[in-house]
Amino acid sequence: MDNQQQKALILVDIQKDFVPGGALPAEGGREVVPVANRLMETFDLVVATQDWHPADHLSFASSHEGKEAGDKIELEGLEQILWPDHCVQGSEGAKFVDGLRMGPIKKVFKKGVDQEIDSYSGFYDNRHRRATGLSDYLREREVEEVYIAGLATDVCVKYTALDAIKEGFKTYVVIDGCRGVNLEAGDVDKAIREMKDAGARIVRAEEAEVEVEVEVEAENLDGRHPRASQA
Ligand SMILES: [Zn+2]
Repeated sequence: MDNQQQKALILVDIQKDFVPGGALPAEGGREVVPVANRLMETFDLVVATQDWHPADHLSFASSHEGKEAGDKIELEGLEQILWPDHCVQGSEGAKFVDGLRMGPIKKVFKKGVDQEIDSYSGFYDNRHRRATGLSDYLREREVEEVYIAGLATDVCVKYTALDAIKEGFKTYVVIDGCRGVNLEAGDVDKAIREMKDAGARIVRAEEAEVEVEVEVEAENLDGRHPRASQA
């Protein structure tokens, strides 16, 4: 691997609250675990992000009187979607999903720790004020390419990928290692288009493993398992 570009795998928010049974589940979210576990075998450097909110986080509907999850408010000039309480620091829902291999994960970057600002991206909060340290960490290790998988495709995976591109990393999204929330129908498809337009390469796990980039047909890009679409 000496003559190849340094690569890192970034596992985004594979936490109990983001899989079925949790507070804010992505459909089929648990299915990313075996994909992530397999991917970890092919990367020397694996890091993870962890959503990690104080109990009174302002992204929670419960922090705003009369508001419900899904409502949108303005927080210091930024639109904020209100979520159900999730990934509260130290809670069961904030833990990584059972079965996810933790051994290969070299470092965990916590995000969303400030009460007053949300953080979808694993790199920065939503106002780009505070860095999590992920970017410096990767640069110190001379990483040039990042592969991203996790939850959820249309929220934290998307913003992590967009920031990775802005930070100058060649960015791959391992789409079968992601699942989405689809707060509004079509959000996942829209997120995939946005990531592609920004310069992300959308690949499947096998392609990430053999380091070959293959464009995937648009209609198969929603990241859902084929079985999930059976009506
Ligand atoms: Zn959150």
